[in-house]
Amino acid sequence: MSVDRPRPLVAGNWKMNGLRMSAKVLGDIQAGYTPGLKAKVDLLVCPPATLLYTFAHISVGSRIAVGGQDCHAKESGAHTGDISAEMLADAGATYVIVGHSERRQFHGEKDADVCAKAVAAHRAGLTAVVCVGETREEREAGKTLNVVKKQLRGSIPVDSNSQNLVVAYEPVWAIGTGLTPTAADVAEVHGLIREELKRLVGKADHGKVRILYGGSVKPSNAAELMAVENVDGALVGGASLVAADFLAIAGAYLT
Ligand code: PEP
Repeated sequence: MSVDRPRPLVAGNWKMNGLRMSAKVLGDIQAGYTPGLKAKVDLLVCPPATLLYTFAHISVGSRIAVGGQDCHAKESGAHTGDISAEMLADAGATYVIVGHSERRQFHGEKDADVCAKAVAAHRAGLTAVVCVGETREEREAGKTLNVVKKQLRGSIPVDSNSQNLVVAYEPVWAIGTGLTPTAADVAEVHGLIREELKRLVGKADHGKVRILYGGSVKPSNAAELMAVENVDGALVGGASLVAADFLAIAGAYLT
């Protein structure tokens, strides 16, 4: 790894999975987060909101960060069922995922909504993990780069910098399917994201923003994907629910 690459981050998105007994998985991740791994890679676990407070407490002193999976743009108010960024921070989160394709797809979230949520994350002192990625139809139509560019420009707030922003490139067709783009395809999109960050966060900071790849990352493909230029870690769904798999993915940075 070249010296000026950002420190890698491997993040787990647990989605709507996990009960109180799942604290055991977090304990196992902690136990396997050896000094060797700590020296090479940061870890983030994003459990369901019901587990955030407990997970944040368990994680104290472990250097494993805890994050939310979504937030509302407002600080408080009449929004039944929603959770504000301030509430996530109060529960011990330091990150929040915004604009995940499942939010865009099943909750109709547009780039402007994602941007408002990222602004809220920053207001609450959280790092926003802004997700972008094309559908299968968009890839097959040769629109991937334009789609990702538009999502970035619409979703990343103007006050973003390498401390409060992580970008996750997640091709929608690769999420939960076992399919992954080729290393060359990942390199092309991550290269575009790095270029776009020049205008979105400024030339001085653009190289330090972490750009994660997400979509069917597993222990067997992590090393190849993590070695791609401008890939600074992974956003992991299914495999993050199994401590040994999550740690093995992070272990790609040991080689
Ligand atoms: C995700 O949903 O963010 C994701 C990457 O899922 P999976 O790893 O299961 O494809």
